[in-house]
Amino acid sequence: MEGRYGAQVALCYQCKRCTAGCPVADAMDIRPHQVVRLLQLGNTERVLESSAIWTCVGCYLCAARCPQGVPVTDLMYSLKGIAMKRGMMPKQATVPAFLRAFSGTVERYGRLHELPMLAGFYLSTDLREALKHRAMGLQLFRQGRLHILGERHRGGKAVRAMLRKARSRKGSP
Ligand code: SF4
Ligand code: SF4
Repeated sequence: MEGRYGAQVALCYQCKRCTAGCPVADAMDIRPHQVVRLLQLGNTERVLESSAIWTCVGCYLCAARCPQGVPVTDLMYSLKGIAMKRGMMPKQATVPAFLRAFSGTVERYGRLHELPMLAGFYLSTDLREALKHRAMGLQLFRQGRLHILGERHRGGKAVRAMLRKARSRKGSP
């Protein structure tokens, strides 16, 4: 793989510690160590077409376990960004919608606010799906874990500037 992560990708010696620690590796069509190997071989297209990059939950366990310091999680995020820019939507087409709803809410409020994020997500995907989860939503509301009026974070301006900067970077969605 050329570019920003090329030198780090080259350091991988296929010990598979990343895959061994990944909580969702079994649900991936290609595992984290295979993602890195394909990138070493220059087969970025195969990785971009995979479900693996969308299955990754960004927990950073792989990166923490890697003895070579390969930033596997950052690679996954970067690949997701490239795939989204190219319109290569995954089979689980809800993932990009979720990412957009998440970052949109953080940009607006300066922090995560669950209700508008969920509203944005379900409005752009499937409202019927939201109805299926209404009992859980009600329970979270009763427990005070789902707030209707979201607070804006004092550092919201800085968060917005950070998100804008991240978006302007090459390869960002
Ligand atoms: S843990 Fe690091 S060195 Fe080992 S296979 Fe994964 S990326 Fe490669
Ligand atoms: S960051 Fe992604 S690839 Fe790495 S361990 Fe977590 S889920 Fe697996």
